Amino acid sequence: MSSDRRSWIASANDPDCGFPLLSLPWSVFSTNAGEHIGIGIGDQVLDLHACVESGLLCSLSDAVQAACRAQTLNDLMALGPTAWQSVRDCITEFLAEDTTDRVSIAARSQVEMLLQWQSEIRFVLPAAIGDYTDFYASMHHARRVGQLFRPHNPLLPNYPWVPIGYHGRASSIVLSGTPIHRPWGQQKRVGDKPEFAPSARLDYEAEIGVYIGEGNPLGTPIPVDSAESHIFGLCVLNDWSARDLQSWEYQPLGPFLAKSFATSVSPWIVPLAALESYRVPGPERTAGDPEPLPYLRSSSCATDGIHLTVSVSLCSAKMRDERISPLEISRSNLRSLYWSLRQLITHHASNGCNLRPGDLLATGTISGPDAGSEGCLLELQATRGKLQLPTGEVRDFLEDGDEVTVRAVAERPGAPRIEVGHCTAMVLPAAACTP
Ligand code: CA
Repeated sequence: MSSDRRSWIASANDPDCGFPLLSLPWSVFSTNAGEHIGIGIGDQVLDLHACVESGLLCSLSDAVQAACRAQTLNDLMALGPTAWQSVRDCITEFLAEDTTDRVSIAARSQVEMLLQWQSEIRFVLPAAIGDYTDFYASMHHARRVGQLFRPHNPLLPNYPWVPIGYHGRASSIVLSGTPIHRPWGQQKRVGDKPEFAPSARLDYEAEIGVYIGEGNPLGTPIPVDSAESHIFGLCVLNDWSARDLQSWEYQPLGPFLAKSFATSVSPWIVPLAALESYRVPGPERTAGDPEPLPYLRSSSCATDGIHLTVSVSLCSAKMRDERISPLEISRSNLRSLYWSLRQLITHHASNGCNLRPGDLLATGTISGPDAGSEGCLLELQATRGKLQLPTGEVRDFLEDGDEVTVRAVAERPGAPRIEVGHCTAMVLPAAACTP
């Protein structure tokens, strides 16, 4: 679709809005009659469930209509890209200023009744997430973290060959806005013995999440060239990390309780179809890096990257008291990943592992090469020292009352700005605990 089509909803045409007709991101929100799927347009949300009930989507298949009335997006995800696009095409004509489709023109007043203000609805998790996998796809992040532990050999020899990941915990994924309790755990501070105490080194990780649409049968890998057809869309993700728990527990099997206490996601899922103007060459490779093994070699490297700015801001309790705006503390870009989204999916399924509709894959911390592009505090303090806040406070790790916001936006001259969303959460004190 042309990226400059206008909507009769004025706010959608505002260049700063981030929800143009081109985007139409998916979400799920709470109503008096259960949870409904909603599509974002301008500063509003179109109730998809109500569209089906009103007969507006009767041109779509019965299966698609049923999926649009479900309480999560999983059924629609399972139907695959043709079904998703059929819904998007239909909604696009309903909302386009220049539509010539008579049915869409006639339905306009009816559609108008089914819109709600984004600011007045309560979003919920958009999918039942069966499995969650977190990767480590930013070489800049891997190198900087590696430097802290192995200054002379920061990058392990497997990194340029194999997309590193681990199986995370789906049950503790929460929506943006849900506060996070500082976790308790085993950690080794001084002496030979560990102690069990609230984490003193709580960190965030700025990432992009990938919701799987159509899955693959167990035992059937996903070819790299068709891997993107399994992507339902992208969200913003904060993979909270307790560094003191992590450094004590991570050998030999990798992260466990240092990560599983919480993962925050943004409410919107932005389809790749909305981001076509932002495709760039990818992934990032430099001279000396090996060619990927054949199963990871894509024939579309010229467009496998996505130009998407990922930023982090922090607001302490004192900053809120003094009415100081949140401080942006880093800015990086999805395009700087070493592994593309399609390579992550293909690698995940390469042993025959089945991905299922609603599964969530995350990129891993997205960091760039320069100071100011560190996607977590562990890296930030290694390159820039302790973080200075405008109140005079300093941070090496997060304090109780700190609110962290991770945001992702696609913007560049000549293309409509697309908001992927933001993911905000406040750190609460550790819960009372009597082990
Ligand atoms: Ca992570």
